[in-house]
Amino acid sequence: MDAAKQPISRLLMVGPPGSGKGTQAAFLSEALGVPAVSTGEMLRSAVAARSALGERVESIMQSGALVDDETMAQVVQQRLGEADAQSGFLLDGYPRNLGQAETLAGILERLETQLDIVLVLDVPEEELIRRALARKRDDDKVEVIRERLSVYKNKTEPLIDYYRDRGILSMVDGFQAVDSVTAALLGEIRKVGQV
Ligand code: AMP
Repeated sequence: MDAAKQPISRLLMVGPPGSGKGTQAAFLSEALGVPAVSTGEMLRSAVAARSALGERVESIMQSGALVDDETMAQVVQQRLGEADAQSGFLLDGYPRNLGQAETLAGILERLETQLDIVLVLDVPEEELIRRALARKRDDDKVEVIRERLSVYKNKTEPLIDYYRDRGILSMVDGFQAVDSVTAALLGEIRKVGQV
């Protein structure tokens, strides 16, 4: 281990719908021993539980649009304040736009911490559509897939430059076998710190 390298325990994964982000986030969280914080999963659980939050977000999720920033800020602030997230976390699905990225920076500042690395999964659009059509989830109908991809392109992709400017961005080719993607992600993490 390189003594000069800092431990990597606060990670963010960014990737379009169908990039394998959720699968990779689960592997990495296990490998690094930090909780995966997936806002999509949290919202789907809220919908399944018929909670007030679930009732509020259900139709928005079904349309492929984004839930409002204020609601998401509350969800994430609360989750990152929980005990298991104090020594690290792997965020998946938040932030989704530049406003949320600024909100996250504020939340982390109040917790006196910051992101160590932002991992972006890069997958060609034709492959994303092919994969999405092969999946069966409620929000995976063709028009919803297009909406989700367009939301990603217009609102989420600007995060790539945002985090590149902050010097914490790593891009990984997500168009490879699942194991190879995991290995590439771990490789990027080891390049910048101890794991
Ligand atoms: P995901 O599983 O990350 O693709 O999220 C599924 C859906 O949940 C999205 O299409 C949005 O409707 C909603 N969602 C998840 N995370 C966010 C977020 N950070 N901001 C707004 N909406 C979100």
